[in-house]
Amino acid sequence: ATPVALLVGTGRGAQLGILIKGPEALEQTRRVDTILLDKTGTLTSGRMSLGQVTATGDADTALRYAAALESASEHPIARAIVAAAAAAPGAHGTALPDVSGFRATAGLGVSGTVEGHAVIVGRPSLFPGPLDPRLIAAIDASTGTAVVVGWGDEARAVLDIADTVRPEAPAALAELVSLGLTPILLTGDNARTAGQVAAAVGIEQVFSAMLPEDKVATIRRLQSEGRVVAMVGDGVNDAAALAQADLGIALATGTDVAIEASDVTIVRDHLGTVPDAIRLSRRTLRVIK
Ligand code: ADP
Ligand code: MG
Repeated sequence: ATPVALLVGTGRGAQLGILIKGPEALEQTRRVDTILLDKTGTLTSGRMSLGQVTATGDADTALRYAAALESASEHPIARAIVAAAAAAPGAHGTALPDVSGFRATAGLGVSGTVEGHAVIVGRPSLFPGPLDPRLIAAIDASTGTAVVVGWGDEARAVLDIADTVRPEAPAALAELVSLGLTPILLTGDNARTAGQVAAAVGIEQVFSAMLPEDKVATIRRLQSEGRVVAMVGDGVNDAAALAQADLGIALATGTDVAIEASDVTIVRDHLGTVPDAIRLSRRTLRVIK
């Protein structure tokens, strides 16, 4: 490899909004045959919003407790909940209650003590159940991500969180396929939401309800089958998967840990930059060879 050609490649990359960490990253990009994409913030805008709130008791309290905990989280779900609580009627000027013992568990949710209650906010599976039929109905009716809020071991509310598929995602996925890559959706979210997003962008293979360690194990398995795997992600919980992949691609809108763990960073907030990066690396390496 001549340093000059590499400089051309990375310089052109910068113009396209792609930062490449080094020559090894370019080489990996050329060899990739399988591309795994995270859902939230990668295939979707990640600018989530709160829809329907269903509670067995006082919905405002459930939302306030949830927002108190989520104000310490940087997950897109957390931002949606905090924004909704701030915008709620009567919330004006009222501070959120204090939290002690805050804990975030990647891919599951958050917990902590609020006004003397051990509050949990996250996946429905965090609550052993049986859940109130109204909450079960709300989870079933959700077209987005159903987040459950509870305390004292009891689920008390379901917050339906909506996200939107990035408008450029279907075209970007079609380009990746035309470049010969097999796209796979890899997400911590539930199977139904994952399936809807996959169908909307044109992905056939889906792995859902994946914990961060499941994402890593899935990549290892694909690698052991001889595949060269790229992973595109943005979240804290994607860092291990980005590091395990042969090529980690982080969106610059993502978290610092995700960017740190990656070989390539997409500076332009547009998914079309991912196929651009693949094409660029192939061209650059043709020049070098
Ligand atoms: P994705 O793979 O789509 O980026 P994550 O792995 O970040 O999703 O999260 C998986 C699931 O864990 C979410 O769909 C949500 O149910 C739950 N979850 C994760 N973080 C939080 C949080 N801060 N608050 C509530 N729920 C959360
Ligand atoms: Mg994510």
